Amino acid sequence: MVGETILEIDLSALKNNFNILRTKINENTMLLAVVKAFAYGSDAVRIAQYLEKLGVDYFAVAYIREGVLLRKAGIKTPILVLHPQAVNFDLLLKFQLEPSLYSFKTLNAFIAVANTNSTDRFPVHLKFNTGLNRLGFSQHQMEDVAEIINSNNSIHVASVLSHLAASEDEKEREFSLHQINRFKDITEKFESLCGYSFIRHLCNTSGVVNFPEAHFDMVRCGIGMYGFDNMEKTVFEFRPIASLKTIISQIHNIDSGQSVGYNRAFISDCPKKIATLPIGHADGIGRQYGNGAGAVYILGQKASIVGNVCMDMIMVDVTEIECKEGDEVVLFDKNTTAEDFAKNGNTISYELLTGISQRIKRIFISE
Ligand SMILES: *Cc1c(COP(=O)(O)O)cnc(C)c1O
Repeated sequence: MVGETILEIDLSALKNNFNILRTKINENTMLLAVVKAFAYGSDAVRIAQYLEKLGVDYFAVAYIREGVLLRKAGIKTPILVLHPQAVNFDLLLKFQLEPSLYSFKTLNAFIAVANTNSTDRFPVHLKFNTGLNRLGFSQHQMEDVAEIINSNNSIHVASVLSHLAASEDEKEREFSLHQINRFKDITEKFESLCGYSFIRHLCNTSGVVNFPEAHFDMVRCGIGMYGFDNMEKTVFEFRPIASLKTIISQIHNIDSGQSVGYNRAFISDCPKKIATLPIGHADGIGRQYGNGAGAVYILGQKASIVGNVCMDMIMVDVTEIECKEGDEVVLFDKNTTAEDFAKNGNTISYELLTGISQRIKRIFISE
């Protein structure tokens, strides 16, 4: 019995996903685990500690403060910060985090801080834009980047990276192959320009699945670690690590013509049994799931969300279910996954998972 709303994290599923990824990549290819956004809404520290024990090669977070949290918890593995903000570069140095630098502005700002701190060959990662048009140096800026790198001993290029725009999309295969070729070009030329080799990495999870020829020296996996491969048909046997569960707080029997919830968005056309659950939009179940779009499972039976989603509660139709107050409710788990749930709200597993509020208790199990 869960007793309250919980996000249950199955560490054996995490281990399964890690092992799958490890066997799908070359023995010499490094595995970086992306643990940004609280490890996709689960728990960055616990996930990182577990993956560190399993022997992961690298971690990545989006922001510097996320990396600081991991260091303070004792994580020793190298941590790449994908989108560091220059105001926090001092903090980054202090906690031995490694920046991804993607523009002359970020590169020069980091060198200034590195020089002030008299660092010696501090590891940095250079990001090139190969078509996503989000972050990254342009290919034609390579010579100027190399010149700056070569005239500063305070930093050292640990890796060169880029990011695929549509690695999960079969229709965009040509575009992805174009990005892969461009990345090959850039890394070859850049290596000769700076005169030493570095780690090359391009693929996210669906890149790992769809482009085995493009794994290079390292792959960056987020969603796969947490159990999803974004493919229409399952390719890798990933297992979702997170289950979102709650309980029934109260049951109301309503007559025909009565309404449920704010703005009387639901009006019943027959007598109904309605259950109120302690989870709402402040917990990450957005208003788009209201009015029948989303559903939960009680005793294995589906119960649709009725009326508007409230901040701390939703109401579900349990007319046909033999349930009582206190019974367990599943929003998503291994059977009805976060991906399935997200689809009903016109979104993706990434958004649903990273939106699960920090006020929900995380429980760790190992099945
Ligand atoms: C988030 C992120 C990843 C992880 O992508 P998944 O699809 O979750 O595997 C990899 N690389 C970069 C640059 C990212 O921002």
